[in-house]
Amino acid sequence: MMLDFRRWIQSIATVLSNAWLLFPFTGTIYQGKLKSLCVPGLNCYSCPAAVGACPMGALQTMFASVRPSFRAGNFHIGLYVIGTLGVIGSLAGRMPCGWLCPFGFMQELVNKIPSPKIDIPSFLSCFKYAVLAIFIVALPIFAVDIFGYGENAFCKYICPAGTLQAGIPMSFLQPRLRDLWGGLFMVKMAILLFLILSMVFIRRPFCRTLCPLGAIYSLFNRVSVFKMVHHPDRCVRCGECYRNCPMGVRFYEGANQNNCIRCLQCMRKSCKYGAIGHSLSAAPSKDTMPSGGASL
Ligand code: SF4
Ligand code: SF4
Repeated sequence: MMLDFRRWIQSIATVLSNAWLLFPFTGTIYQGKLKSLCVPGLNCYSCPAAVGACPMGALQTMFASVRPSFRAGNFHIGLYVIGTLGVIGSLAGRMPCGWLCPFGFMQELVNKIPSPKIDIPSFLSCFKYAVLAIFIVALPIFAVDIFGYGENAFCKYICPAGTLQAGIPMSFLQPRLRDLWGGLFMVKMAILLFLILSMVFIRRPFCRTLCPLGAIYSLFNRVSVFKMVHHPDRCVRCGECYRNCPMGVRFYEGANQNNCIRCLQCMRKSCKYGAIGHSLSAAPSKDTMPSGGASL
């Protein structure tokens, strides 16, 4: 069967984000100039194959440096990451999650494993905003060590992409790192395994409930230049869009919901009635915006 266009883009983005193929010989991560640029999806900086920086890692580092910089009399904060996310979000909203994020792609592939599929209550979508506020912003700023430096709390305590892409492979590349495996590593392995198991039964569980990058992009969905459009006059509320949506969004309840990753699957493959489209417009969407994801 022909791989569809989005699958091609997801595959290419995953390969391009992880194109440093010399790591088996160097035994360490790539640290060239490209590493100063952020990739648009969640892709661990410390993955031995990664060629760019993860925007969430970079954002935590930015917040962690705020207090030491201020204390040293330096009131300049590097706004490169916020600017990058702002530009991408303003243009496309959460589209990078649907087309460019390697970890999102992996969740869709795992969900292809034949199994009963279940859905999750919509209120769980709110947790990703708490993760963003606590682990990306508050803890890096306020949980400082004796030298006044904050820590990258999301990377350290939660990120399953980091465990999968960096923790596990680096332990094989540098066996001495296994001596550092402790309770925290085991907790992170448990989080990763729980999420992988969840992916079999639930559509993109990490993106919907925990991903702080998705939380940031989702804030732009209603105001980005690219928008989804719903034509209620043509919609018969058959629910086909919901059944085929990789995020479990009920499109017929409103376009541009925070969980819509603009994958266009509903428009291209699900709706036979022409009720789904998209537009380029600077005006904010007037659609109602439920959180999405509840069962039909
Ligand atoms: S598939 Fe089309 S007609 Fe059916 S509920 Fe979705 S938008 Fe409405
Ligand atoms: S609502 Fe449509 S465009 Fe949005 S994530 Fe679901 S299938 Fe993709």
